[in-house]
Amino acid sequence: MSQFIDGAVGPATGGRTAEVTDPSTGEVVETVTMADAGDVDRAVGAARRAFPEWSRATPAERSGVLTRWAAVLAEQAESLARVESRQAGKPIRLAREFDVPGTVDNVAFFAGAARHLEGQAAGEYSPDHTSMIRREAVGVVGSVSPWNYPLQMAAWKILPAVAAGNTVVLKPAEITPLTSIMFAEAATAAGMPDGVVNVVVGTGEEAGAPLLRHPDVDMVSFTGSTRVGRTVLEAAAGTAKRVHLELGGKAPFVVFDDADLEAAVHGAVAGSLINTGQDCTAATRAIVHRSLHDRFVQGVADLSAQVRLGPTDDPDTDLGPLVSSAHRDRVAAMVERARGYATVVTGGLPGGDLGRRLERGSYFLPTLVTGIRPEHELFTDEVFGPVLAVTPFDTDDEAIALANDTVYGLAASVWTRDVYRAMRATAEIRSGCVWVNDHIPIVSEMPHGGLKQSGFGKDMSSYSFEEYTVVKHVMLDRTAVARKAWHRTVFGLPASTDD
Ligand code: NAD
Repeated sequence: MSQFIDGAVGPATGGRTAEVTDPSTGEVVETVTMADAGDVDRAVGAARRAFPEWSRATPAERSGVLTRWAAVLAEQAESLARVESRQAGKPIRLAREFDVPGTVDNVAFFAGAARHLEGQAAGEYSPDHTSMIRREAVGVVGSVSPWNYPLQMAAWKILPAVAAGNTVVLKPAEITPLTSIMFAEAATAAGMPDGVVNVVVGTGEEAGAPLLRHPDVDMVSFTGSTRVGRTVLEAAAGTAKRVHLELGGKAPFVVFDDADLEAAVHGAVAGSLINTGQDCTAATRAIVHRSLHDRFVQGVADLSAQVRLGPTDDPDTDLGPLVSSAHRDRVAAMVERARGYATVVTGGLPGGDLGRRLERGSYFLPTLVTGIRPEHELFTDEVFGPVLAVTPFDTDDEAIALANDTVYGLAASVWTRDVYRAMRATAEIRSGCVWVNDHIPIVSEMPHGGLKQSGFGKDMSSYSFEEYTVVKHVMLDRTAVARKAWHRTVFGLPASTDD
């Protein structure tokens, strides 16, 4: 099983399989079949066939399907949360309170937004013509999503596309495909026509690359690393596809000297540990005024010590494992290297009793590293783990320069009680989102997306329709004469004498 093509679940044709494992125990959750270029072709064919009817459906019809889809997902909330928790190693509390309700709300939002596609008013911008705008779907969208929030990322890729009348083939990350399939099945249960939403499960090379290159795919939409994002741009170039990229991040967390220290400490721990730090907007670079530095570090270290690592099905667990042992080893190696140039205040691999209890999972302790300078790896590179790196500053100019000293530009936060400082920092920090006195919250109504090498284009909110629609100019002659005034530029004739 594990492919969802043309409204039905079925196996891939090639017969190759892979295991989805629970990173908290190493147990196999499910064996899935792996798609190749042939399966991708079948899915794109289904999406292409479904496009004319779905794109011509009225906004109200599309909205109706999405409204029912939200209801079906809400009924399945507990099973979605359990599967999401197991395949991605998320604490069940996070899956229940964040991933699943967030996704249901996204669907409900787009059910409404589907009826609010906007354009410029029709009018006479030339005296001889009436112009109007048609906002139309782009066509078949090929989407590729990552493993950190599998359900939410599937939703973010699929919803604005189908709400605007496109059809979609999604390739989720091959290690966490299960809730993407459940999401698509729920669409069919809600009355979504076959072929509008398709999911192919396979590796980036065998299923992702053929999808992005496919000549019948009009647009590609990718969420993942900046490294793979660059290859997506290259793949799309062959057939000049429209591209939407949501890539990596290295969010600064700037604490000015007038900040509420307790709020900043709590914000830093929550903002860096959410989803075990596997969040593209997670707080990763704490840039802290020198006068608060030592108290901030002590506060974060003390509060991190209270965070409970444990089995993901225990509602009391705060922090789950990293997504795989390979990823845990990569994070551990980065922290090991940091010992050579900075101070690891707390963190690393769990040891002692805790380490023995969690030895089957890919756990990593909340980790705090000080003495970080802009040339250090922990300042420049995405770790994607529960690691906060601290850099002191002395002046506001320096703080903003440090915040911007990165190739990424996805998210940032500033902590201050001075409204003028907050206004300056939010204007000057180059990222797609800047929080003031908080870090992480998102809402369906507001856009998410990056600048610089964090990509371009927006997920969520009505702004995402800019990615998934094209505006067509329709211009009607109002004169009803054969010889138009503007023909003088070609024929050198006098203006029209027709009556
Ligand atoms: P990744 O780039 O390794 O993989 C993402 C997806 O791309 C997966 O489905 C993978 O199979 C596929 N892929 C890999 N190689 C491919 C190829 N050659 N052609 C086509 N598809 C290919 O990223 P990941 O490790 O799954 O996720 C973590 C990354 O995602 C981090 O960098 C994180 O910052 C980023 N991310 C960004 C956002 C955002 O909104 N900007 C959200 C979540 C995650």
